[in-house]
Amino acid sequence: MTETLDIKITKTKHSRLNETDFNNLQFGRTFSDHMFVADYEDGEWKNFNIVPYGEIGFSPAISALHYGQAFFEGLKAYKHADGQVSVFRPDKNARRFNKSAERLCMPELPEEIFVQSIAAVVDMDRDWIPSKPNHSLYIRPFMFATDPYLGVQPSATYKYIVLIGPVGPYFSKTLRVKVETNFTRAAEGGFGYAKAAGNYGGGMLPAKKAAEEGFDQLIWTDAKDHAYIEEMGSANVMFFLDGKLITPSTRDTILDGVTRDTVLTLAREWGVPVEERRVSIAEIIEGAKNGKLTDAFGAGTAATIAQVGSISYNGEEYFLSDPKEREFSQKVLKALDGIRYGNLPDTHGWNYMV
Ligand SMILES: *Cc1c(COP(=O)(O)O)cnc(C)c1O
Repeated sequence: MTETLDIKITKTKHSRLNETDFNNLQFGRTFSDHMFVADYEDGEWKNFNIVPYGEIGFSPAISALHYGQAFFEGLKAYKHADGQVSVFRPDKNARRFNKSAERLCMPELPEEIFVQSIAAVVDMDRDWIPSKPNHSLYIRPFMFATDPYLGVQPSATYKYIVLIGPVGPYFSKTLRVKVETNFTRAAEGGFGYAKAAGNYGGGMLPAKKAAEEGFDQLIWTDAKDHAYIEEMGSANVMFFLDGKLITPSTRDTILDGVTRDTVLTLAREWGVPVEERRVSIAEIIEGAKNGKLTDAFGAGTAATIAQVGSISYNGEEYFLSDPKEREFSQKVLKALDGIRYGNLPDTHGWNYMV
């Protein structure tokens, strides 16, 4: 897998694998033994290393910390019943990685380096991939600016790192969500479509306030009128309304999700009517009232398919059907899992075998 990328490997002297409690995995808290690290200097990517996971040193003046030149990706590796390991659609994440890089004035990373660095570190720590149902290996590639310089300008040096760690199910319950009509996640002309670190920092206060009111997630609305639905927390949002799968069309305020694309592709193949367009809050609330809204869920790598139990808007809470009875989201979740865990044929070539 790594024949073209010359990676220097330094193995850990003490594996933490046997000390790790795979029955109590909290998302994002457990890291495998190794990580991949590369540097951007003098206009090129160099120093491809796999090293033991651990702290790294840098100047407190690095521009990532001051001006936010930092972004990430998120994808997963799955262990199949026969022991094979696959990463789901890494080419899509590679392309999005470079869209984020471009918007933040950061260097692109050749797609082969992105995919091969992931394959190399996943292969190295393949024993860390859980084989339990609904478990997987979360992969977090990210890039940040490392010039120790306080001038507001694009850094000349960067680091690219890939962290990996075992994860279980992200949401175990049906979500109580609130339509946010005060705060904004992203505005036109901004960088909502990038997986930029700053987008998530800005989302924390609204999410915290919603959590204090008892909500699990926010539905973000457009910055101008707060009349159209954009995303749900850090996932794309989809509805089954009046017999059609509808989801906000991607634009510069919306992250173009791999899960979103996968769900839409499957739906179209099944002959389900699909509409990618502006989705108004009004039509969703109307559908919740008259029973034509038969499914509502978030779609994302971390959350997979996250069922919405109720939607609150202007202080009114609208309850949706029991997730167990939702035909579309149950079918799509089954298909997604089937392909990713190797139990259904991968007719699209979505699984990158490691
Ligand atoms: C990562 C992310 C998604 C989901 O994208 P996937 O590629 O499906 O994981 C959706 N919205 C936001 C804001 C995200 O950060």
